[in-house]
Amino acid sequence: MTAGGRGGAGGRAEQDERERDDGRGRANNPSLPLEHIPDPDEGGGCGADDGEEDEVIRDLVQPHHVGEQRAGREGHRKQPRSHLLKGSPPRRTVLPRYARSTYAKGDDVAETTLTWLGHASFRMDTAGGQRIYIDPFLNGNPKCPEGEQTPERVDVIAVTHGHGDHVGDTVDLAQKHGATVVALVELAGWLGKNGVDEGKLLNPNKGGTVDVDGTKFTLTNAFHSGSAPDGSYAGEPSGIVVTTSDGKKVYFAGDTCVFGDMQLIGRIYEPDVAVLPIGDHFTMGPKEAAVAIELLGVKRIVPCHWGTFGLLTGTPGELKQLAPSGVTIEDVEPGGSVTL
Ligand SMILES: [Zn+2]
Repeated sequence: MTAGGRGGAGGRAEQDERERDDGRGRANNPSLPLEHIPDPDEGGGCGADDGEEDEVIRDLVQPHHVGEQRAGREGHRKQPRSHLLKGSPPRRTVLPRYARSTYAKGDDVAETTLTWLGHASFRMDTAGGQRIYIDPFLNGNPKCPEGEQTPERVDVIAVTHGHGDHVGDTVDLAQKHGATVVALVELAGWLGKNGVDEGKLLNPNKGGTVDVDGTKFTLTNAFHSGSAPDGSYAGEPSGIVVTTSDGKKVYFAGDTCVFGDMQLIGRIYEPDVAVLPIGDHFTMGPKEAAVAIELLGVKRIVPCHWGTFGLLTGTPGELKQLAPSGVTIEDVEPGGSVTL
């Protein structure tokens, strides 16, 4: 499946004075967010072609014109390599993938797992049998394993904010799978206008909690900018605390810098795992993330939003150097999982 139609994070950077209309695009999926998806086999993967990567990331994180599309050349992407990320130490947590497995809803799954799909995209398979996607940027995400790009089942999608590298495939996945979608009220409104069944939308605001079949989603603060993929207002960015029916708690910080009230999030929700962006440039880097860990008081961290593009230079190795003692930095590779 592809991120076509209204679900694609389409358009181009409104404020990018370097942008030019060169007629390029992706003939099969004109609404896909990427003018060019870095081919891992071209030029050694991330960091090898920062100019083009700059262009890619600009398209993903900046406001876009309404209704703009691009046409032109056919997109191409080979299967991403699994060891593309710079500075990756050899020891990684790699557990089986579940994207193509067939858990029926309600089946017993012994443990809740959290699988990194590259960039800020995650899949949670809960002990209660739910499959939850956080910020499902699958198609167009150069680090999303090919086997994860077309989920066979999606029960819930939770989105931290409106940027294209987080909304990603939300509309298409929600339509295809009838998934419940959780997003801050303005972003939820945008999703409803862009194809998500309004009966399937839950639209809390920061501090609010919604329950989807026993799993709770609480929106927290986050400090970042925000707009929908078409450039319209999508509310403020948020973080999300997911509390599963068996009491596992994961804090997804979303895109943010460090902020002092992370201490409140730690105090109130006591997450078992915190998912923190560490790539720098568009979010905090390892130096701020180390302080975030201290403020949160969380002992287990899954880094994200790093290594996707050359601009995102922070690494788990750097975070390990800076993090408080007694904290586990889970150096997961895309497609790899941790068990909660
Ligand atoms: Zn982002």
